Amino acid sequence: MTKSKELFERSKKVAPGGVHSPVRSFRSVGGEPIFFKSANGAYLQDVDGKEYIDFCLSFGPLILGHRDPEIEEIVKETISMAWTFGACEPYSLELAEFIVNEIPWVEKIRFVSSGTEAVMSALRVARAATGRDKVLKFDGCYHGHLDALLVKSGSGLAGEPSSDSAGISERQMSDTLVLPLDNEKAVQELFDKRGKEIAVLAIEPMPANYGLLLQRKEFLYKITEIARKHGTLVLFDEVISGFRVGMKGYSELLDLKPDLVTYGKIIGGGFPVGAYAGRKDLMDLVAPSGPVYQAGTLSANPIGMRAGLATLKKLKTHNVHSILETRTEEFALQAVEILNQKSEIEWTVSLQGSVFWFHQKTEKPIRTIAEIPSTHKENFSKLFHALLQKGVYLAPSGYEVGFLSLAHTDLVLEKTLQAFKTL
Ligand code: PMP
Repeated sequence: MTKSKELFERSKKVAPGGVHSPVRSFRSVGGEPIFFKSANGAYLQDVDGKEYIDFCLSFGPLILGHRDPEIEEIVKETISMAWTFGACEPYSLELAEFIVNEIPWVEKIRFVSSGTEAVMSALRVARAATGRDKVLKFDGCYHGHLDALLVKSGSGLAGEPSSDSAGISERQMSDTLVLPLDNEKAVQELFDKRGKEIAVLAIEPMPANYGLLLQRKEFLYKITEIARKHGTLVLFDEVISGFRVGMKGYSELLDLKPDLVTYGKIIGGGFPVGAYAGRKDLMDLVAPSGPVYQAGTLSANPIGMRAGLATLKKLKTHNVHSILETRTEEFALQAVEILNQKSEIEWTVSLQGSVFWFHQKTEKPIRTIAEIPSTHKENFSKLFHALLQKGVYLAPSGYEVGFLSLAHTDLVLEKTLQAFKTL
């Protein structure tokens, strides 16, 4: 028995499904999860001594790779200074100032410990600011596991939600409206009927949680315009895209300013940090300056604050986004070419900056969940396991995107392409 298998058997006895977050279980791709013991740069080492090139990168935070030496130095230094204060310190101030100076629509920011917390808090602000209860979200976007957003569309284009998880009360669900992506007409119709009830339109401007469902810019412009006409706030969830596709996230590529924005992943340099941010008048509603309560024992943890700041600074000084964009495109297109020399299906890749998603070629770009080919899960699972055998680790689900990091050098990518050639 491999050590991974032994650990998984033990883990199943003490944790639901043997894991502490569902996608880690390999349920989507079949088989049993690998247990990793260490990581360095672009590489993971498992408990059985095998090495893998990592394109999951903890689902996005590690844009510089595992344990970037400069960040590691800062982390070690911080650990020797303090672990947590639960009091004021300069580190969150420095990260907040950096981000506020960098991103014009971030006038004020509040740090929390996860993306879920960030979105949950931003919704609270939006409700307080508008005096309205309803939230509009889109099928194909994920915003964390808060009850109100763990829903999918119920009946067609009416916006009615149905639960995406057991344990969500009717009441929680009833405050959320859900529509498909890529359909501005449905948004218009919903707002014509119920616009006055909707506090906030929440969307991943770069939806990257059901594959990479890149939207038409006109769709994003139009729905933003419709929302604003009805006094509804616009929340861009940039937990994945923030600091990933550029210093200012996907909003910058759109040239659209959200009223509220949420961050996670990269903002903590690999440590548990999330943030919600936006217009000063909205953020000033948050306690203690305003009536919207939100707090956290470990919020603005010094290690996450300093690792985050060092990461964001390095992204800027080393021109990381443009380097990664070029490398990712070259790598992904070559990988597809190699796959298509042998495969029964025709593969393609959806790309944005250093984010990629391999899938079967379709006539038109895939922009909604409904357009993802029904065979995708099976096709991806085969590819996943074949690559795993060869020492390449993709996220263990066909609906997760892949990432490159600065540690994915030309040499590492060449090695990966060699593995593709031997499939
Ligand atoms: N929003 C988006 C867009 C996300 O991708 C995620 C996590 N993948 C979240 C929110 C929730 O973040 P967390 O897992 O840190 O709670």
